[in-house]
Amino acid sequence: MREDFPILGKSVNGHPLVYLDSAATSQKPRQVLDAERDFLTRSNAAVHRGAHTLAAEATDLFEDARTTVAGFVGAAPEQLVWTSGATAGLNLVAYAIGNATLGRGAPASARFALRPGDELVVTEAEHHANLIPWQELATRTGAALRHIPVRDDGTLDLDAAASLIGDRTRVVAFTHVSNVLGIVNPVAELVALARDAGALTVLDACQSAPHLPLDLPALGIDLAVFSGHKMLGPYGVGGLYGRADVLEALPPFLTGGSMITTVTLDSAEYLPAPQRFEAGTQPVGPAIGLAVAVRYLEGVGLPAIHAHEQRLAARMGEGLREIPGIRLLGDAAGAERVGLWAFDVEGVHAHDAGQYLDSLGIAVRVGHHCAAPLHRRFGVTASVRASAALYNTDDDVDRFVEGVRGIRPYFGAGA
Ligand code: PLP
Repeated sequence: MREDFPILGKSVNGHPLVYLDSAATSQKPRQVLDAERDFLTRSNAAVHRGAHTLAAEATDLFEDARTTVAGFVGAAPEQLVWTSGATAGLNLVAYAIGNATLGRGAPASARFALRPGDELVVTEAEHHANLIPWQELATRTGAALRHIPVRDDGTLDLDAAASLIGDRTRVVAFTHVSNVLGIVNPVAELVALARDAGALTVLDACQSAPHLPLDLPALGIDLAVFSGHKMLGPYGVGGLYGRADVLEALPPFLTGGSMITTVTLDSAEYLPAPQRFEAGTQPVGPAIGLAVAVRYLEGVGLPAIHAHEQRLAARMGEGLREIPGIRLLGDAAGAERVGLWAFDVEGVHAHDAGQYLDSLGIAVRVGHHCAAPLHRRFGVTASVRASAALYNTDDDVDRFVEGVRGIRPYFGAGA
């Protein structure tokens, strides 16, 4: 399989590359690159508009891609909105709720309107993409933003969640898997709490979609986002999944061409979902590439991918725990995980640690990984993060662990 990923054969700083930064962006197999190029060289035309044969061919390919990607998360094609990525999807939802609060949308949109005293709930472990749009919505509407705390072991404090989520809660937005802690969060429990409170649920599935079987309707979630480039797909494309009744009632965010039925100089009427949320020219080639990416993941099998990555995570965790001065963030015993660990190296700044690993050809991410509040909660400003994907091997993990073993001695910070 690794031969499908030409970049994995590269040498970096005189060493064969060990790529452990897939949580930031995954590598892409040849099949995905070929699909985009084939589309552009053989079938490219503007979708949904042209009356010519090529336009019909491009439209079919684009809509087939929607069916494939929707099916990947257990959904029907009309439940999948193309976005440019997870950040765009989360902003779409937050701004649509803001528009409902302004009285925009169909009469059914009123169910999303926020009133003074309403609360939006997120977790302390969110990526900034699933935090700042809610901060902005709270500021614009006067709603209050609350957060579910993370325990010392990296799990969510469900007791606190139960007392926090109540009559005033209108939205519960949370990540399926934190991009820092790697722990699979208890979606069913949080959905049950939100349902009892009559709140809308929004799932950030960026770090779960490429790594474990995902059936969004079965999870009972109302809305969810994922990002193409993190799941073997191209940049510039992502998905927003929605329950049919929720998408149908939600007002649009971006407006313009391709999302309307009739337009006068003073007003416009909008298409049903998903087109109502797809104003302007869509990322057609990337969507077709993403369909090939999810077929690739399905071909390997999500259960097999999850099992492989859990094994890599266990191997990595065991190796790192033995190294003096390494503190793993979110080392909950027995937690279901993806292949991701973030850690602090005592006495060495994360950026120095990352550079040392890079000198050995090992690519990891350093910094706050767009989750600054979570790092603050663990008393650090930055961490080193290693994140695996289906193409990583035991040998990658062993070279990485050996590399980490060398960090503190190299910087004279300890054994
Ligand atoms: N949510 C999580 C958990 C992420 O890890 C990321 C990317 O790092 C995002 C959201 C944002 O995704 P994108 O930048 O592709 O929009």
